[in-house]
Amino acid sequence: MTSHHTPAVPGTDVLDGAAILDRAARGERLSHAEITALYDLPLPDVAAVAHELRLQRSPADTVSFLIDRNINYTNVCNVGCNFCAFYRTPRQKDSYTLDYDQISAKITELEAVNGTRILMQGGVNPALGLDYYTGLLRHIKAHHPSIRIDAFSPEEVLFMEKTFGLSLDELLDTLIDAGLDGLPGAGGEILEDDVRAKAAPARIRSDDWFRILDAAQRKGLYTISTMVIGFGESHAQRASHLLKIRDQQDKALAAYGGNGFSGFAMWTLQTENTRLHGKAPGASAHEYLQQLAIARIALDNIPNIQASWPAQGFKVAQAALYYGAGDLGSTMLEENVVSAAGNHNRHHATVRELVRIAHDAGFRPAIRNSRFQIIEYPDVTAVLDHGLGAELEEDRAVGAN
Ligand code: SF4
Repeated sequence: MTSHHTPAVPGTDVLDGAAILDRAARGERLSHAEITALYDLPLPDVAAVAHELRLQRSPADTVSFLIDRNINYTNVCNVGCNFCAFYRTPRQKDSYTLDYDQISAKITELEAVNGTRILMQGGVNPALGLDYYTGLLRHIKAHHPSIRIDAFSPEEVLFMEKTFGLSLDELLDTLIDAGLDGLPGAGGEILEDDVRAKAAPARIRSDDWFRILDAAQRKGLYTISTMVIGFGESHAQRASHLLKIRDQQDKALAAYGGNGFSGFAMWTLQTENTRLHGKAPGASAHEYLQQLAIARIALDNIPNIQASWPAQGFKVAQAALYYGAGDLGSTMLEENVVSAAGNHNRHHATVRELVRIAHDAGFRPAIRNSRFQIIEYPDVTAVLDHGLGAELEEDRAVGAN
């Protein structure tokens, strides 16, 4: 990563902010020093460039989202991240591991609202054998053949690799054979190990995170890149995180037939009910929007950038559509991890709500698949009046568990 520290203007250490923004607006690639300097520029100036790039790099009049469901198959976890309010030890009364029928019932509810994928992740539960995972994937594919399964964070994959006596390649082949479609890039947080070590000493290290996602990309699996701010990381560390993702994307696009990260999702640390509460600064809406705009500028090879409503609420997510985001993520019919650590009391969104956010911001709402391909442009008037929207409003109850 040493090349990232080259000053933008040879022979000078002082970077000219206006010149950096001009270069960014022309679509030129910025260095580590230039990206770090963006944090000291007025946010409206940075946002204007980010929005212009977003209009160029993803469909200009459209804001997309996915109808999906989060399924957390177990909350038992032995990693014990300080920022996590979701995990339990096996002895805690409210620890759980779902059986296949319970998971299948959740997917049936997703199918009823025309959902197309599940995002299935859990804790690192040492009681589960490889058979649980492969049996689960097979069960889902047999009973819900049209549903895409994006499952298991790099942390869970690392556990499986260490525990089941398979190489990473063998493990991924086994999971793919059983039905795995994608590997969400959760657990990215800040991919700088001194930030990670403070927030979660046992957490997967950045090298392993990239090694696992690189192998997934090589095998054609869906992946996404992620970032969480608010641990107390420096601007330079945030810039390093973005550049590591940009480097991996360059590599994957060139070497794996264009199968890199399908998108980038970024949110802010939530610390309520966690051991980090009061110890990590978190991030304000201003910081979130600034980081989003800088990510859009820095990640010149990732067209699809999501706004985060679970961590920031609908209003900031809507504003984010003018700070570099072109997508509202997904409905997340059930989400337990971010919500356990405190959020805006929103565990999932309805189609109607996401259509309204996009439409009121001046964009054409579009329902997409997990690869960011548009499936349908919903009839906005019908959705906002009644019909589809009203039906989906009733689904609020589904995500409340
Ligand atoms: S964030 Fe994931 S790995 Fe860390 S304690 Fe929570 S469930 Fe476990």
